[in-house]
Amino acid sequence: MSFVNITKMLQDAEENHYAVGAFNYCTSETAKAIIDEGCRKKSPIMMICGPWELDLVGPNMMARMVDILSDEAGSPVCLHLDHATDIDTVKRCIDAGFPSVMIDGSHCDTYEENVALTRAVVEIAKPYGITVEGELGAVGRVDDESPEVNDNALLTDPAQAAEFVHLTGVDALAVGIGNGHGMYRQAPVLDFERLKAIRSVVTVPLVLHGGSGTPADQLHQAIDLGVSKVNVASELARAYLKAIDDRKPGLWYAWALIQARDAVSEVVGRWMDELGCSGRVK
Ligand SMILES: [Zn+2]
Repeated sequence: MSFVNITKMLQDAEENHYAVGAFNYCTSETAKAIIDEGCRKKSPIMMICGPWELDLVGPNMMARMVDILSDEAGSPVCLHLDHATDIDTVKRCIDAGFPSVMIDGSHCDTYEENVALTRAVVEIAKPYGITVEGELGAVGRVDDESPEVNDNALLTDPAQAAEFVHLTGVDALAVGIGNGHGMYRQAPVLDFERLKAIRSVVTVPLVLHGGSGTPADQLHQAIDLGVSKVNVASELARAYLKAIDDRKPGLWYAWALIQARDAVSEVVGRWMDELGCSGRVK
């Protein structure tokens, strides 16, 4: 497999002041939608899938489908495991050829447990040249009844972030700055002072999860303040399912899925333009 890991991709993004879109795929046609659009846009391509997607067909199939599609791609492709919460999932994905993984220790009872889990994954991954993204603070959900993403307990503490990166050796850090997973019920209010404070003490790339629905001006400000990877999932899922829901009665299912694939491509293209990663592959 000829994937790149996140470091090379995010270094270029940081140097040139844009962010790489990390797009969630769960089927072969959603993977193709993202990779084809990345090639059309001449954008670096970052594919992410997490435990829910892995449950569909397993890590080997999830990696192989991206590998096959990336063979024909003119843009570099990174494959990144999203939100693993345990070491076994990480190991299975490393065995399947993932060059990059995220360990999300935000479910741990204590900060110390998060450090220990994340450090253990770094120790497993590093010898293989595999990059690791950690999470400090917690990126909650915003489509729950009472979203609380600006709750202090979920926000990343800058001083603790610096220590966390030092103790764990992660290559990238997902931060909680008022962002959340799902579709925002109302526009998020990202805490840019906090982001600035984190950036001033953390040298590894910063990651914004929960990109879907973030207003463009806040995205641009987050990129200006040092975010170089933005995860997008819910908008893709919504476009895919809407295309299927809106299909003409009696349409053969392959055609419905082709329409869903093209709907995902359209969303991906818009995001690549917005994040500034279009046109970066020379
Ligand atoms: Zn996430």
